[in-house]
Parts: sequence; structure tokens; C-alpha cells
Amino acid sequence: MFQEFAMGSVITGRKMTMTATLEEQGRQDIEETGRALEGNSPLEILRWATDAYGPRLTFATGFGAEGCVLLDLIGRHTLPIDIFTLDTGLLFPETYDLWRRLESRYGFTIRGVGPELSVEQQATVLGPELWTRDPDQCCDTRKVTPLTAQLAGFDAWITAIRRDQTRTRVSALAVEWDQKFALAKVNPLVRWTKRDVWAHLLKHEVPYNPLHDRGYPSVGCVPCTSRVAAGEHDRSGRWRGTAKTECGLHVDVTGADQVTPSGPLA
Ligand code: SF4
Repeated sequence: MFQEFAMGSVITGRKMTMTATLEEQGRQDIEETGRALEGNSPLEILRWATDAYGPRLTFATGFGAEGCVLLDLIGRHTLPIDIFTLDTGLLFPETYDLWRRLESRYGFTIRGVGPELSVEQQATVLGPELWTRDPDQCCDTRKVTPLTAQLAGFDAWITAIRRDQTRTRVSALAVEWDQKFALAKVNPLVRWTKRDVWAHLLKHEVPYNPLHDRGYPSVGCVPCTSRVAAGEHDRSGRWRGTAKTECGLHVDVTGADQVTPSGPLA
């Protein structure tokens, strides 16, 4: 019995070593590709990802200005990419309206992915207004857990992050390994600036959240989003008055980004 157990352990150990080696090789290949794609346009990067991953590719949008650029590229060029959004049940009416307007304009479907608990159920189970007492737990329940479950079904996900958004994103590549969710992460807008984003939206008359014109450069859930004054950082209206700066979706698990100023799902 002991011998059987011991042999099993050796085999399991070898398998684990092989898996780790393959994963490391895959991670290195992906990051090499990311560096090779550095000079490519967002559309070229999207096309590369579509060819490379096919139906195993998804785009998680939070309907930020950057997300709208990517939705426009996907929609106008009819790229066969699965799209979803995390519907926390606490989004602004303007965001829900934008969701429908984008679907209508481009003819694609943006899947709504919700948490296990409704807002009311969360209040019963975890107490009312969890976001005021423990926003990390609230984001974990309403965003990170559903996202993790979704991403488990894919090999790569597209995000709308830009390098100049936060200190955590300065070293992002066009394609990189997402250690937190264990799949490839495609960042077509990584080299773009805020000016590039708005030039694209206006040139192509892309629908965007009207809250951006009312002092909300970054829009998330209603309870955790406030207006930003002139001169404040674009992300300063998110979780105002708390130390929290990220949902936990784009956190660098190496720990290099524990400092951050912040970023939306997109
Ligand atoms: S942004 Fe606020 S309300 Fe939304 S999931 Fe996070 S803590 Fe909860």
C-alpha cells in the first residue's frame, strides 16, 4: 500500500513538472509574440488573435472609451470574437443603454455575465451595501469570481488596457501571459494614448457612455463611481475615499503592482 502510494506520488510529481515546463514555454512564446506585435495596429493585433485562437478567444468589455474602440473594430470588420460584460447589477442606466446601442449598431451580441448572488441576495447573505464596508469582497463576488469562471472556458482574452493608464500597466505587452487567470491576454490598445482613443471614437462616430461628457472619465458601478474634478486623475472617481484602486481583474500577481492608481475592465 505504501509502495503504491509512493509510486503514484513520483508519477504525479513528474506530471506536475512537465505541466509547469510546458506552461513556462507557452508563457515565453506568448510574450515573444507580444514583443513581435509591438508595432502592429489594434486591428492587426485583433486579426492575429482571431487567427491564433479562433473560438477560444473572448473579449471582456466594461464599456469604457477604450472598450468602445475595440467593439467598433470588431463590429465594423465583423471579426468572429465572443464578447461579454460583467453585469454586476449595479451599473449606471447610461451603461445599460450603451450596451443596447452598441449591439444595435454593430449587430453582435454582448453576453451579460452576472454574479451568483443578486444585489438583494448579497445584502441578505453578506450584509447591506457591502461596497461601503468591504469593496474588495464585493468586487471579488460580483466581478472577479464570475470572470474567473468565464475565462476558464477560453485560451485567450482581449482587454482594453493602455500602458499609460496606471503604474501597473506600464510594462504590458500586446500579447502576454495572464498569470492570474492562466491564459493569454491580448491588449490591442496597449500603445495608444487617451487622445488616440477619443480621436478614433469621434472619427468613426462610435457610441460611448454619455457620462464621460458629464465629468466621469471612468465609469464603473453606481455606488463606487463619482464625478472627477478638473486636474484630478481619470481614475480618482473610482472607490473615492478608499485605498482601493483596481477591481482585481488586471492585477499583476507578481506583486509588482501593489502601488497602483487603477483601471477599468475597460
Ligand atoms: S465596483 Fe463597487 S459595487 Fe461594483 S462590484 Fe466593486 S465594490 Fe461592488
